[in-house]
Amino acid sequence: MAEPGRIALVTGASRGIGRAAAVALAAAGHHVVLVARTVGGLEETDDLVRAAGGSATLVPLDLKDFTALDRLGASLFERWGRLDAFFANAGVLGALSPLAHLDPKLLDELVAVNITANARLIRSLDPLLRASEAGRVLFVSSSVARKPRAFWGGYAMSKAALESLALTYAAECAATGVRVNILNPGATHTAMRARAMPGEDPVTLPTPEDIAPLIVEMLSPEWEKNGELVNYREWKLPAG
Ligand code: NDP
Repeated sequence: MAEPGRIALVTGASRGIGRAAAVALAAAGHHVVLVARTVGGLEETDDLVRAAGGSATLVPLDLKDFTALDRLGASLFERWGRLDAFFANAGVLGALSPLAHLDPKLLDELVAVNITANARLIRSLDPLLRASEAGRVLFVSSSVARKPRAFWGGYAMSKAALESLALTYAAECAATGVRVNILNPGATHTAMRARAMPGEDPVTLPTPEDIAPLIVEMLSPEWEKNGELVNYREWKLPAG
């Protein structure tokens, strides 16, 4: 088999924005490594990747299993010796509730999945990203990280911490070939959005497939900006 082009790791690839990103990255010539817990969802993404002419490696794991994240870096190193693109997309919403009523278990999950797993992945993947000719990292945040709203506190604080993590890593990578940025997709037609806003008509929202081209662009070697937050809604505005 011919050597693949760029290697991309996508977390949260079993549905939603992660799935659409994986398919678009594969169509753009990446071999995609797909991470999520739901094997059936990963397999459906794999089918879409193949239909787009690409190839995938499926890695079913729980991002709360931090030692599995260490092993993931080691496996990628053994197989390819580098990682070219890391789409740090997986996230949980927790529950919308007053902070005083935030379920401690959900709070632990928000911190583990949205923050700690990403810090552990950077620890595991940093040497691989630096070994790439143009390592690119893209974290997914949300408007509430910078504009807190009542009842969104658990999710908002986890995304604020994630943005701090991303900008710190961007600063540390500034003198290397690695570029680290943040995407705010805005309200998008996915299962997470439907849970957050059950009364909303999803047809009014952009789909993950609408967002995917921006993700491919921000993970490409041509994307030279570092430490930037890009809002999908602003990127979409027609020039002039
Ligand atoms: P979905 O809920 O549709 O998908 C979330 C993905 O994360 C799934 O693939 C899920 O896989 C994975 N995931 C969740 N927990 C774990 C875990 N413990 N281990 C491994 N994988 C996990 O969400 P979206 O596609 O909507 O969201 C993607 C990102 O975009 C998130 O970071 C979200 O915060 C952000 N975002 C979304 C917006 C929206 O309107 N949709 C707006 C702003 C930001 P599985 O369950 O199979 O493990």
